[in-house]
Amino acid sequence: MTDTLYRLAYYSLNALPSGEDTEVEVRRILEVSRRNNAKAGITGALLYTNGCFAQILEGDYAAVERTFETIQNDERHTAIVPLQFEKVSARGFGPWSMAYVGTDENAIAETLGLARAEDFYPARCDGAELFKVLHGVLLAQERGAAMGVHAWTLT
Ligand code: FAD
Repeated sequence: MTDTLYRLAYYSLNALPSGEDTEVEVRRILEVSRRNNAKAGITGALLYTNGCFAQILEGDYAAVERTFETIQNDERHTAIVPLQFEKVSARGFGPWSMAYVGTDENAIAETLGLARAEDFYPARCDGAELFKVLHGVLLAQERGAAMGVHAWTLT
């Protein structure tokens, strides 16, 4: 346990120009994030679904704040809404400098106990719910990979 560990959760709207290949762009974001976050001691997960991004960043207060400032200035998304920035006792995404949670809306709906995948929209979540979704879907993804099910293309 460390008393300097913080978790930040936010969601935003995709602002990629129409026609832009979203998968290629998300892959680019992940590559840069993994490289930078590993150096900064940041772990977390990124979700892209329904035209929205949602992300969890965990790490030292200053590192999370600095990274989030950079992310907020990125024109590839807009309407950025922080949901949580608070001290936590342990990392939820310890092994991942930036896990990609993907766009499997059915897995998301199942994790949240929603009847329909379309009912999930990050703007309706608070920070704790967003953490639950990203963490739950990531664990389902890991279980699928262990069973040889490769439904996730951007790992
Ligand atoms: P560079 O090496 O300078 O750039 C890497 C690549 O990204 C280049 O191809 C460059 O063209 C492209 N790029 C950089 N900035 C932009 C921009 N504003 N618009 C279009 N293309 C651009 N960064 C992190 O370090 N950690 C994160 O967890 C993280 N999460 C992100 C989540 C989202 C939803 C988005 C949209 C961005 C995220 N980023 C994250 C990226 C961040 O906003 C910066 O682009 C990045 O940190 C710049 O790092 P760099 O200077 O090392 O990249």
